[in-house]
Order: sequence, then C-alpha cells, then structure tokens
Amino acid sequence: MSIAAIKGMNDILPGEVETWQFLERSAREVFGLYGFSEIRTPVPEKTELFCRSIGETTDIVEKEMYTFDDKSENSLTLRPEGTAPVMRSFIQNRLHNLDPVSKLYYMGPMFRYERPQKGRYRQFHQLGVEVVGVEDAKIDAQVLAMLHQYFIRIGIDTVSLQVNSLGCPDCRPGYRQELISYLEERLSDLCPECQRRYLNNPLRVLDCKAQGCQAATVDAPSVIDHLCSSCSDHFSKVQFYLKALKIPYEVNARMVRGLDYYVRTTFELVTDQLGSQNAVAAGGRYDGLVESLGGPPLPGIGFAIGLERLVLMKGEQRITADGPQIFIAARGEDASERAFVLMSQLQSAGVRAEMDYLGKSIKAQMRRANKLNATFSLVLGEEELQTGQAQLKDMSDSSHSTIALDDLVDVLTKKLAEYSTSA
Ligand code: ATP
Ligand code: MG
Repeated sequence: MSIAAIKGMNDILPGEVETWQFLERSAREVFGLYGFSEIRTPVPEKTELFCRSIGETTDIVEKEMYTFDDKSENSLTLRPEGTAPVMRSFIQNRLHNLDPVSKLYYMGPMFRYERPQKGRYRQFHQLGVEVVGVEDAKIDAQVLAMLHQYFIRIGIDTVSLQVNSLGCPDCRPGYRQELISYLEERLSDLCPECQRRYLNNPLRVLDCKAQGCQAATVDAPSVIDHLCSSCSDHFSKVQFYLKALKIPYEVNARMVRGLDYYVRTTFELVTDQLGSQNAVAAGGRYDGLVESLGGPPLPGIGFAIGLERLVLMKGEQRITADGPQIFIAARGEDASERAFVLMSQLQSAGVRAEMDYLGKSIKAQMRRANKLNATFSLVLGEEELQTGQAQLKDMSDSSHSTIALDDLVDVLTKKLAEYSTSA
C-alpha cells in the first residue's frame, strides 16, 4: 500500500505553489519597505520555551503541541507559533546590541494538534513580524499600517481590522478579578470547558464560541473600562494614529487572544469568507515577554498571518506559473538534437525555453506548447536545418516571422524585451 501524508498536513503542489510564492514575495517586498529583516529559527525548540511564554493554561500548551523526547530525552516541541522562538533567538544573539529597534519577520511551518478542517490544519504556515524595543503607540499603528498595506498589495479587501487593549500587569488583575466574580454568578450557563477554565483563564470565556457562554457574557465587564491611565492613554494614541493613517478599524472589547503574553494592544484581521476560521491574522503587544524569557526588559509587538487562509481567500484569483517564452518543436532526431542545443543556449541567456523529450508528433508538441502557454514557438525539421532558417510563431496572434537559427538567441531576447514593454 502506498504511504499517505500525515492527517492535517498538506502538500503544496505546482499550480498552487505559485499563489504561495506570490504571497511570500509580496510580504518580502512590503515588509522590506518598512525596514524589516528576515529571521529564520529552527522548527523544534525546547518545550519549556513555549510553556513559559504562551502560558500553561492556553489551548496551545494544554492540548495542541507536538511534543516528543529526542534520543537524549530532551523534551522538544515543533513550534506552534513564531513569537517565542524569535524572542529566544533575539535574546540569545543579543540583537538589541545591534540596533535599539529590531524589526524582524519570519515565514514558515507551525504545528498544532488540532481537529483538521477547512482553514485549520496540523501543519500550517505563518508569516509573522515582530518589533522589539518600542513602547510608543506609533509602532503599534505602524505595524497595523504595514498589515493593511500587505493586504492591499495581495489584493484581498474583504477583511476587517478589530483592535482591543488587554491592559497591563497593573490594571489587568483587577479586571480579571471582576470578570471572575461576574462569571461565578453565571457558572451554570457556561460550557463545561469554560466552567473548568474560568478561574485560570477568565478572559478566554469572552471569546468562547458556545452559545451559552456568549449569552452569559453579553453584559460582562469590559476590559476597556478597566484600563489604567497609561494603558488607556496608549490605546487612545494607537487609535489616533490609525485615524491619521486612514486605516479602518473597529474596537472589539471582547477580543482576547489565546496566548498569555499579550498586553495592551491586541488585534485581529477577520473575514466572513472562511466560516468559523474567521481570523486571517492576529497579534498584539507583548511587553514583558523578552524579560520573562531572560532577556532585557524590552517591549515588543507583532502579528502572524495564516498563509493557508490567505490562499483559500485568493481562491479563483490564483496566480499561475509563467509559461515558457519559447517552445521548440522538432521533427526527427537531427532536429531534436539541434533543438536541444538551441534550448540550452536560450536558457543560459535567461530565456525560459522548453522542448519535447518524448518523441511526440509535431501536432502533439504544439498542443503542449499551447497548454504550457508558451509565448513563441518554433518548428524545426529537415528543411529548417538545411536552410538554417525557421518560422518563429507568436502564439498570441499566430503571426510568423522568418528567423535565422544562428541569430535565434539575439532576436528572441529583443522580441521578448519589446513584448514585456508593450504588455
Ligand atoms: P484560531 O482562533 O483560528 O484558532 P488562533 O488565535 O489560534 O486562531 P494565532 O495563534 O493567533 O491563531 O495564529 C495567527 C494566525 O494563524 C491565525 O489568525 C490563523 O490565520 C492562523 N492559524 C492558527 N492556527 C491555524 C491552524 N491550525 N491552521 C491554519 N491556520 C492557523
Ligand atoms: Mg487556535
């Protein structure tokens, strides 16, 4: 029996990978404009890193991590998210000594043992950014502006930005306590999961999808009403800058994030195109995280975009691969040999060239040229070899021009240059 991939882990095949490459290329372009550099960290990390940063009582740490012992019995975990590894690397490599403001981005696979469904997989890919070193609300707005710009660049305009502030270690505990008291009075209306977690993680009850929990928390105290003056001031400034940059957003005081390290600004980009997998990107501030992982007391903020969800949203607007710029069809062995050398010369000169390797008829070769969406084609047979000339066919309008085979590389490169300026 043949072997299949692991459940919830997908192959990304030709035909689809072009969309991925487009999304990744666009990220590099946009993030580069804002001064971000790429960072690449290993896929596994010490399990402890995630327990300490994400939080012991979160869904990720409680039930979603791919954790295993290596042969030396070290507990390792395939990264479920990117922020903790980037902070680990930031601290270990003392990146704050290079520049007081670090702007980093990453892209790559993440692993969570979840129930696979549309938009939710066990290996999925995130595109994320982190800024370490700035507390000023300008950076919150800048990060959101960049996220906004990225979505413009990739042509997705069906998302909306929701922002919230979760307060800080000064004001959140008071709010948390008040929320616990509120929930305590309505315990029997909550789902079993929330009944279990309301003491350890009361904020999670606010974004529980269960109807009972939603109904029970309609009038729950709002985190925004409990912000201390510095958090409230910070949140006002974030909104002031968002307005100044004309970035549409709405405040959603019920939005909490599933990771413990968030403080102050949190946000999500949501869509109604993906059913219950409605978050396309999410992030927030994590002042305190770097210090809690043993680094200097530097503030940070970041977001992660789920690439699979973007690909689903691009749907019909898929990006297709560039076809060959010339397909050389050959009749007979001598012509095939000449075609092979010509093709190789063209490729060395930077032209995407293709030919037939299977000894197919000219008709079948031309069908393939069409299917591959070749820009030009050329038929080589005995006569062409003898005269040293052939007909170059422009596949878009079937017009032909006579071309000397020895000049093929030069003439074709010129024609293609004209083509790309007139297109
Ligand atoms: P959700 O509420 O959908 O579970 P999350 O809050 O767990 O999302 P984050 O940890 O904030 O998600 O990750 C950021 C983004 O990564 C999400 O907005 C989503 O687009 C994507 N993402 C998260 N988990 C998965 C998954 N299992 N499969 C595919 N994409 C995912
Ligand atoms: Mg999740």
